[in-house]
Amino acid sequence: MDNHDYLNSKGRIFDIQRFSVHDGPGIRTIFFLKGCFLRCRWCCNPESQSGDIEQMTIAGKTKTVGRDVTVAELVEIAERDRIYYSRSGGGVTLSGGECLYQSEFAANLLRACKEKGINTAIESTGFSDFSKIEPLLANLDLFLMDIKHTQSAKHKQFTGVPNELIKQNAHLIAKACKELIIRVPVIPTFNDTPEEIADIAAFAATLHGVKEIHLLPYHRLGYDKYIGLGREYSIGDVELLSSDKISTLKAAAERSGLIVKIGG
Ligand code: SF4
Repeated sequence: MDNHDYLNSKGRIFDIQRFSVHDGPGIRTIFFLKGCFLRCRWCCNPESQSGDIEQMTIAGKTKTVGRDVTVAELVEIAERDRIYYSRSGGGVTLSGGECLYQSEFAANLLRACKEKGINTAIESTGFSDFSKIEPLLANLDLFLMDIKHTQSAKHKQFTGVPNELIKQNAHLIAKACKELIIRVPVIPTFNDTPEEIADIAAFAATLHGVKEIHLLPYHRLGYDKYIGLGREYSIGDVELLSSDKISTLKAAAERSGLIVKIGG
């Protein structure tokens, strides 16, 4: 491969969000990559899950979800907001979907961002062979990793996959990456008891160098998209978390000794 061939490598995205203040420090450009290995029942981006280009109808309008882009195109978009990154400590985040679903493209995109001096983050479940994860780490400033449940059977029941590989990779990632923050989508009926959250936080505290855990309370923002894709909203009609409950879960997570933040 020529030195610059990686800039022409192609991947598939379904959205780009500029000026985001979530998913990493400062003001960020978020590239949402298409495809995911999991099928979380509460997923707020169901249009991200399939690696295929799809049609989705929202508010009576049908749109195509997914388009193919090169690394060079995305870096050019990222560079438009360079001034905001430098003032805020921001940069680029790869989200999804799951960026490891297109791991070679993700690695090339991170490399290109780093070569332009842009701060990089990914959010990922880490459900992949570690050989697909390792190439991303050299050009990554922050790994935001989801740990959704410590019990494998329940993890599988609600996400479609067991969690042994995720837990094993969490240890490898913690040792190899610059910074790792653990995030927990807190989902009623799945992992919203103080015991479950305390167990996840206790596991996170065993990971090398991890100092922070973020609890991300469940919301129903993805509901209309399921309808628009002709799919069932399979988490069902669960209640949103009250602020009292969130405080109780935060206290449970704090028993691990980690810094606990709500949202992220
Ligand atoms: S890992 Fe994320 S993108 Fe994939 S199904 Fe779960 S919530 Fe959706």
